[in-house]
Amino acid sequence: MAENINAEELARQAQLRQEIEKQIIQRFAPEDEALRQTLVAQHESGLPDIQISPIQGRLLQVLIAANNTRKILEIGALGGYSGTWMARALPADGKLITLEISPKHAEVVRAAFARAGLADRTEVRVGAASELLPALQSEAPFDFFFIDANKDGYPVYLDWALQLARPGSIIVADNNIRSGRPFQQRPEGDNADIAAYNLRAATDPRLRSILLPVDEDGMDGFAISVVLP
Ligand code: MG
Repeated sequence: MAENINAEELARQAQLRQEIEKQIIQRFAPEDEALRQTLVAQHESGLPDIQISPIQGRLLQVLIAANNTRKILEIGALGGYSGTWMARALPADGKLITLEISPKHAEVVRAAFARAGLADRTEVRVGAASELLPALQSEAPFDFFFIDANKDGYPVYLDWALQLARPGSIIVADNNIRSGRPFQQRPEGDNADIAAYNLRAATDPRLRSILLPVDEDGMDGFAISVVLP
């Protein structure tokens, strides 16, 4: 009997969490037609449905507003969903550069930006991030970084973000909790790279950071760092 009550209570709490999330999205982070179309196009192009949530999109916009961001560098474009959220938070003369390894996917992203009326302030660069990043030094500093790409590259991407940043720049990385896999004593595969990133974010004296559960019922989330003066 007690077990039944617990199961009922858990179900009630889960339903309540869903309702709260729905209300937050409706009030603060509603998706418009362009964002919905971006998800449809992403799906039809065979890209995985692993984009950020509307709440995460809105959080990126809040952070972008917080430090007067004019230049954003995104590593890992996917279907252009996160890029659309971020580019919309830019001033009219702002710019988002997003790096995408697949030429086919880059076309999906360009179409998404065009549909959202953001073609003038966005640029998709095609290639491996490790090859594209050195060429960005002449365009630095960037005010805001969003890292959401191959997880084994995260430590190197953090190095590059620090090189291309200014004091006050904000660096956000997605999927740094991954249901706790990077927290295991000996994380396996690319979870070890996420663990290395999280350690750096927590201990590098140039950064003030937090790992924030913000998706999947707290099972995944953002590492958020500010570059200190
Ligand atoms: Mg992600």
